[in-house]
Amino acid sequence: MPGLYIVATPIGNLGDITLRATATLGGVSAIACEDTRVTGKLLNHLGFKKRMIRYNDHADATTRDYLLGLMASEPIALVCDAGTPLISDPGYRLVRAAREAGIAVTSLPGASAAIMAVTLSGLPSDRFFFAGFLPNKAKARGDVLAALATVPASLVFYETAPRLADALAAIAEVLPGREVAVARELTKMFEECRTGSPAELIAHYAAHPPRGEIVLVVGPPGETPVEEANIDGLLQAALASLKPSQAAAEVARQTGADRKALYARALELK
Ligand code: SAM
Repeated sequence: MPGLYIVATPIGNLGDITLRATATLGGVSAIACEDTRVTGKLLNHLGFKKRMIRYNDHADATTRDYLLGLMASEPIALVCDAGTPLISDPGYRLVRAAREAGIAVTSLPGASAAIMAVTLSGLPSDRFFFAGFLPNKAKARGDVLAALATVPASLVFYETAPRLADALAAIAEVLPGREVAVARELTKMFEECRTGSPAELIAHYAAHPPRGEIVLVVGPPGETPVEEANIDGLLQAALASLKPSQAAAEVARQTGADRKALYARALELK
C-alpha cells in the first residue's frame, strides 16, 4: 500500500532485523536513508537492490517534498543508519509532513540502543527520561544536567567514546551520588554494561579507554543509596558558602535526598 513505512534496523548485530522489516524493505519502491553506503550494506545482506534517497530533516526541504509526492502513490520506507528512525535521528519533519498531507504512516518497531540500555542497566526502568545527546560545551552540558536533576526517573543519554570522560565528569559534579550504567557496543562482539558511581566509572575508563558507541543510564534521584559520608561532604561543601536551609535545598537538588532531613543534618554539622 502507498504510504510511509518507518523501519527500525539493527544497532550492530544484523540478526536483529525483524521479519516484518525484511518483508517491508523488500516490498517498498524506494528507501529514504541517512547514508546510502550504510543502508546499501544492509540491503546487500538482505539480498535486495532498491532505490535509495538520502534524507536529512534539516538540510533538505526539497527532498522532503519529493518524498511526500512519491508516498502518495507508492510505499516508501524510512530507515536510519542504525536502530529506530527519529530517535536522535532524522525523520520527525518527514513524519509530521506526511501526517499533515493525509498520507498513511506506520512504524515497524525494532532495535533501539536507548531501550536496550535501560533493560540491561539494572537501574529503575518503570520511568525513564530519554535526553538524547548532551551538548558538547561544558557550560551547556552542566545546565542540561542541572535542569534534569529533579526528574523522578532514570535518565538516558546517547554518548560517544571520545566524549565519555567529559560526560561522566559532568554527571559526577552535577548529579553526585547517582548510580550510572555505561552500556557500550550493544549487540556487538564487545558488548559491555558497567555500573558504578560516576567516580568509579571515571577511574575505570581512564585506565581502559573505551571504544565504540555508548548509552549512559543515570539512576533516578533518591532511589540509589548515597553514602552518608558523601551527603555530609556535599553538605559541608555547600555550607561553606550557603545558609543551612539553602545548603539543604542545594544538596536535595543534587541528590534527590529528603530536604528536611538534610536541613536537620546541616544544622548538626554547622
Ligand atoms: N536511532 C538510534 C537508536 O534507535 O538507537 C540512535 C542513533 S544516534 C545517532 C547514535 C547513538 O546511539 C550513538 O552515539 C550511541 O549513543 C547510541 N548507539 C547506537 N548504537 C549503539 C550500540 N550498538 N551500542 C551502544 N550505543 C549505541
